[in-house]
Parts: sequence; structure tokens; C-alpha cells
Amino acid sequence: MNFVSEPSSSESTLTLTTPIQYLPGVGPARATKLRKLGLRIARDILFLFPRNHTFPPPPTKVADLAEGQPATFIGTITDAELVSRTPGKSIFAAIVENDSGAVRIVFFNQPFRAEQLTFETQVRISGAPKLAGLRWEFTHPQYEIVQEGELPDEDAPGGLILANYPLTEGIKQSDLRRLARPLVNELAGQLTEVLPERLRTEAAQRLNAAGMELPDVLPGISDALRGIHLPESEADLTAAQTRLVFQELLVMQLALAMRRRSLTSELRAPSLECTATVRNRILRRFPFELTGDQRRVMDVIAADMARQFPMNRLLQGDVGSGKTVVAIFAMLVAVAGGHQATLMAPTEVLARQHHATLQRMLADSRVRVGLLCGSLGAAERRGTVEKIRTGELDIVIGTQALLYGVEFHRLGLCVIDEQHKFGVKQRVTLRDGGVDPHYLVMSATPIPRSVAMTQFGDVDLSTLREKPAGRGAVHTYLAGDSWRDRWWAFVKERVAEGRQAFVVAPRVGPEVESADEELSELVDPAEPPAEDITSVHSTYEQLRTGPLKGLRVGLLHGRMASDEKQQVMESFAEGELDVLVSTTVIEVGIDVPNATVMAILGGNRFGLAQLHQLRGRVSRGTHAGHVCVFVDGDKPPQDDERLKVFEQTLDGFELAEADFRLRGPGDVLGQRQSGDARLRIADLHRDVEILQVAREMAQDWIDQDPEMESEGLEDLKSQVLRRYGNHLDLSDGA
Ligand code: ADP
Ligand code: MG
Repeated sequence: MNFVSEPSSSESTLTLTTPIQYLPGVGPARATKLRKLGLRIARDILFLFPRNHTFPPPPTKVADLAEGQPATFIGTITDAELVSRTPGKSIFAAIVENDSGAVRIVFFNQPFRAEQLTFETQVRISGAPKLAGLRWEFTHPQYEIVQEGELPDEDAPGGLILANYPLTEGIKQSDLRRLARPLVNELAGQLTEVLPERLRTEAAQRLNAAGMELPDVLPGISDALRGIHLPESEADLTAAQTRLVFQELLVMQLALAMRRRSLTSELRAPSLECTATVRNRILRRFPFELTGDQRRVMDVIAADMARQFPMNRLLQGDVGSGKTVVAIFAMLVAVAGGHQATLMAPTEVLARQHHATLQRMLADSRVRVGLLCGSLGAAERRGTVEKIRTGELDIVIGTQALLYGVEFHRLGLCVIDEQHKFGVKQRVTLRDGGVDPHYLVMSATPIPRSVAMTQFGDVDLSTLREKPAGRGAVHTYLAGDSWRDRWWAFVKERVAEGRQAFVVAPRVGPEVESADEELSELVDPAEPPAEDITSVHSTYEQLRTGPLKGLRVGLLHGRMASDEKQQVMESFAEGELDVLVSTTVIEVGIDVPNATVMAILGGNRFGLAQLHQLRGRVSRGTHAGHVCVFVDGDKPPQDDERLKVFEQTLDGFELAEADFRLRGPGDVLGQRQSGDARLRIADLHRDVEILQVAREMAQDWIDQDPEMESEGLEDLKSQVLRRYGNHLDLSDGA
């Protein structure tokens, strides 16, 4: 043992909590810059995850080398010569040879290379060769001595997989690489392992069963950090990355599983049994065959409602997939069980429509249906509220705002329609003496799988994918301005055949829309208003007096008085209007089967989900629907990738995945979520399979051990609570 060559003492005093300023080669000035990357102590650097990695090109044969093309070449040095030792004029040259031939490497003014690149040394070189005479020559290549058991030369990373870190001004990629290497080697071993080996084994088994190719046990934390900062191979990197991604997602899913549990099994709700008789009696009221999906979801809901703790279920399905029918079923189950049910709609127009549907359906029954909406007079409202309180009404439809805070006699079920319009965080609580109602939340914005498992991770999820039979097809077109005349001619033809048409404009007026306008009319709050945005008013005037002169044209937007809106909607539904010029206020659920033609103006200003919702308005009848999306400006509409996807895809779930891919999860829901902001290494799109495994595993573990009390889980549990404790409100159990 030679004590003299031990590492210097400054390195051996490094700890996980050493402030970055005191790390070798940092100092106060650099530390200030590094802090912009969120780096404060040595430990932070270990958890500064690379954005991606650069892989070396595969080794090349001499015959495949090309002038100036980056290449890697592995061979043995068969000749090495320091041509001149004169400082400032030295040349070191060597021949590197393998089965495919030989190349020359040259270094100017780096005489020390002669000490490393000696005769018979194996090297991996990479660089861009040039032909010098008849031989390929690499000038100043990056190189690595290939020798088993020896770490590659630090400042010569040729041939290695390189981590690429997030950067900030004044900090170079090589700075971070140089900083990370010794910390990983010295400190990673000191970290606490939060995933015990049995958990890492089970995870690897499940991930491999899901089609991944991982070792039998996921790497421990120190191997994982080494593998992500200084990977030795692609497999090494994959295992490391998977372990870290899995951990991040597992922690989140454990929190969500605990949350789901506290939201359900720890609360009390009325047990509302649905006997076969009740079920048949309800189903007889529907004038059509239910789809298989509808029947399946009704069964699941009936089972949920029979339990003594609240159902907390999100029902998602495309526009027209028949969610309302499922909701009506659930409400009638509640009523049959001697309880009240309420349905909250996002707009009054929609509330009235639901109310009318229910009254029609239940006209000859004893079920009493009431409506609570803003346009009721004070006395009428008081009367309705009183009937809700005494139990004289069985089913109450209303807008969410109006039903909030109303006292129910015996509320058994609360249905929330188009919940996404309100934001996912808002949850209505309608407790009734320590007993909660069952909740059914409906959304026509199909949620990508990964979003469903994260932002909606605390609810159970049901999906209606199947469309009721007999629906007409919908044709979608993208068009520039030059198409308008042809389109209006087409509209006139359809109207002549007895159909009706929508024209949707992105804004109410030319002026700036304020953020507290009716939510459904906000196109994209982040977008600055432009003067030339097509307004619903100018469109209405233009069409009425121009291309659609002679037709009965109506106007609808969110700023109209409620009864005025109602009147316009009714005339359109009754066929007294041929064309309805509207803002996106019609997006939410309006059902006029005879309307089969829709123009969407300024289509580039709408989100994919919103466009899809709009299109859903003209696919409700048996006639084929036609949607034409017009685009503002001169660019061909096909240049807009979102619109192209919209043109080619009718399936709401595919669109949701595409939207997610193109815009990120926040925008799919029309809002930014804090939930994924805390993800540091997982990518919800890329890692959806790992997410699925993490979710299933978390659910199973929490089912077996709700409080995570079994041995070895202490550190994992405290990580879950530290990260998500507040956010998920795990502490108070509600
Ligand atoms: P959603 O709320 O999902 O948009 P709705 O429940 O409003 O859909 O249904 C859309 C239309 O389809 C309604 O007119 C409804 O009566 C009808 N409908 C629902 N389910 C079926 C079915 N199984 N067969 C035929 N028509 C149906
Ligand atoms: Mg609906």
C-alpha cells in the first residue's frame, strides 16, 4: 500500500450536505450561477438529472470512414512517435490498427499524450477523420484507453455515454460533468435507500412482464445515480433511469392510493342497492338498446353505490357516447333507494336541457324533478330550495353554483356534468350529517391514460368508448378563407334539405375578453388578443346580411342574459332558426340532432379537445355531419399539426393522446396543473408503461398495508408524506 497516492484530504471530507461553494473547483462566483439550477449542496448535484445523453457512434471499419464524418474507431497502437519535443512545436503521432486496417492519430503541442498512448495500448478514438495521403487521420481525437477495470480518462470521454445536464448562463456542459463525476463516485453510496430490495425485485418483475428488459432487481440508489450520470452501457443507463423514474412515480401513486382510500373507505355513504327489479324498471324507460359500455358502466356504478362508503368515480366518454343516460340510471337508483339525487351542469342552458330530458322521461312516474337555476325569481327559488330541504323533490338539476350550499333532505348521489370546465381541484362537498353522497363526475374531454393516472389519480375511472348505433358519420374539412363562399353555398343547400347549421366564432366581441367571462368561452387565456380575431357579432352581421341572407340566423353568446340565451337555444332546437352563430357556449352538451353542419372560424385558436367537443354537436343525429374548420391568416391550415390530427381522427381518446403529445398535459385540461411540475425525471408521455406498473403496485401495496407500516417501508413512507402530504391532504383523512 502506498499511502502517498491516496486521494487528497479535501475530497475525503466531502459530505452530502457540503455547500456547493466548497466543492472542488467551484467557489463563490460559480456557486451563484449553480444555484440558478437549484443546486445548493452536494446532494443536489446527485439529483440533477441529465436531460438526455449523447451516445457514441458505433465503432467503424476503416473502409466505412468518410471525410469529416464523426466516427469511432477501436484498435491497438502499433506505432507511436513524438516527432519533436520543442515546446510549441511538438507533434505526437500514432498508428491505431485493427482487423479492418489502420488509421493515424495526431496531437500538436500535447507531448504528454506520448505517455498515455504507448505501443500496444488499446484505444477507442472518436472524431472526424480526414484523408491524409492514403491514410485516414484523426487530429486531436477524443479517446479512451480500453482496459478492463480501469475508469476512462476523465477529460477524454470519447466513446462514453455522456450526460447532458440542464444548463444556465455561465455554466458549461463540461463543468457539470466534471462536477458530477467525483460526487457520484464518493457520495452516492451514502444515500438512504428508500426502495427495499423486495420492492425493487417485485417492480422489476412487473416491469419485465410489461415488456421491458431489465435486470431481475432494479438497481439500488447508488448504482442508479452512477448509472444515470456515468453510464457504462445503454443497458446500465436504462436500468438506472427506470429505477429513478419508477421511484418518482411510485411515490406519487402511493400518495394517490392512500388518498383514494381515505376518500372512500374511511367515509360513510348510504348503501343504495339496485335489485334486478329496480334495474329493469329503470332500463325500460330508455327508448333504445344500451351500448355494451353503458351496461358495463351501469353495473360498476350500481356496485359502487351499494357500498357503505362513497363512490368517487369519473365517467369519461366522447360527446354523444351516452353519459347522461348512465347518470340518469344512477340517479334513479338513488331515488329507488329512498334518497335524493342531484345533477350539476356547467351552464344554465345545459341544466335546462337535462331537466327537460328528465321530465320527458319521467312524466308518467312518481319521481319529482326540480330545477334550480339563476333565472328563477326569488320566490320560486325559495320554494324550490324548501322542497329540496323537505324531500319533496327527488331529483334536482341545477348549475353547480346554485346547488352549492343548498340543504338536501337525504342526498344520496351527486352527479357533476362536464367537470373539467371547473377545474379538477374543485370538489363539491355536500355532506349531510357525517354521511357523504356518492359522486359521479362526467367528462367529455377524454383524458390521456397518463393524465388519468396522475391528475385524476384519486378517483376511479370508467370509460364509454362505444358510440350508440345509428349515428351518422362526420366529415371534417380544413379550409382557408378562399373556401368561405363555397361553404356558405353548401350550408344553404343543407338548410334547403331541412338541416340546421352552427357557425362558431372564437370571441364575443372585438374587445378583450375578461378572464371571469363564462368559462366555456375562453379560448386560450394565455394568448394575447389580436384585433382581427373573428368576433361572433361581426360574423353574425356579415352572414345575416351577406352570404346567408334569407335564412333565419340566430346569435348566441355567453354575455347574453340567461333567459335570452335560453330563448335562442329553444328556437334553434325547435327548428325556428336555420343557422346559429355562436361562441363556444354551445360546446357543452347542447343536443340538436337536426343540426348537421358546422363552421368553426378561427379554428387555430381552439384547443384540440375543444374542437372535438364542438364537432360532437353535429354527430348527434342520423344524418351525416360536416365540420369545416377555417383558419385565420394566410398560412395553409394543413400546416397546423393539431388541425391535421383533428381532420384525420374522430376518436376522442386518440385526439387526447395527440394533444398531450403536442401541448403537454396541462393544456389538455385547459389549465396548468401543479401535479406534474414536481416530476423531476419521469416523463408522463414517455413513461406511461412505468406509470401503469407503479399505479398497480401502489394500489396492491396500499390494499395490503394501508398505512405503509410494514418493515422497511419507513423511509419510503416519509418520502411520500414529505412530497405529497400537504398536496393530497392525507393528514385529515378527508
Ligand atoms: P353525452 O352526455 O355522453 O354527450 P348523451 O347521454 O347526452 O351523451 O347521449 C347523446 C344522445 O344519444 C342522446 O340523445 C341520448 O338519448 C342518445 N343515446 C344515448 N345512449 C343511446 C343508445 N344506447 N342508443 C341510442 N341512443 C342513445
Ligand atoms: Mg352530456
